Amino acid sequence: MFTIFVLNICSLFMSPRPSRLRKISNPPVISGFRPYGNKNIKGKVEAVFLHFEEYEALRLCDYEMLNHHQASVLMNVSRPTLTRIYARARQKIAEALVKGSQISIEGGKIYFDSEWFLCSSCGCYFNNPEKQVEIKECPLCKSTSFSVYAENNNNEEEEEEEEEEE
Ligand SMILES: [Zn+2]
Repeated sequence: MFTIFVLNICSLFMSPRPSRLRKISNPPVISGFRPYGNKNIKGKVEAVFLHFEEYEALRLCDYEMLNHHQASVLMNVSRPTLTRIYARARQKIAEALVKGSQISIEGGKIYFDSEWFLCSSCGCYFNNPEKQVEIKECPLCKSTSFSVYAENNNNEEEEEEEEEEE
C-alpha cells in the first residue's frame, strides 16, 4: 500500500526529471566540517562533497542504527539503491579523513518532508508522501499505532509549533 503511494507520488513529481528524489527527514544542522592540524599537506586540499541523501543514509544506518531495508523504506528508495548511497557516503567520509579534506554537505536529489509520524510499535519515523491520503499503518511493521511527530528541525531557531494539516 505504502509502495503504491510512493510510486504514485514519484510519477507525479518526477515526470520531468530523469531520476528519483530521495526523501530526507531534516536537513543537516551544519554545512560541513573543516579539518585542522594537517601537518603534511601544503596548499589546498579539495573538499569532499557529501550529498544530502548520503548524509541521510549515514544518519539512518550509523546513527539511528537501522538496517538497510528500514533505511531504504524511510528514504523512499530500493534497498540496493540505499546500499549504493550508503557505500558512497562512507567512501567520501573515509576519503576526507585520509586526505584531510574539508567535508561540504550539499546537493543531491532529495526532498524534505515535514509531516512525520512516529510508530509506537517499532519506533521508526516515517512520513506521508501523499498528503491527501490518510496514513493507516506503519510502512515498516504495519502497526496501526502511531502518532504525528511534531519535531521539525528545518530551522535551528524555529520555535516549537504544531504541524498543520493543510
Ligand atoms: Zn512500525
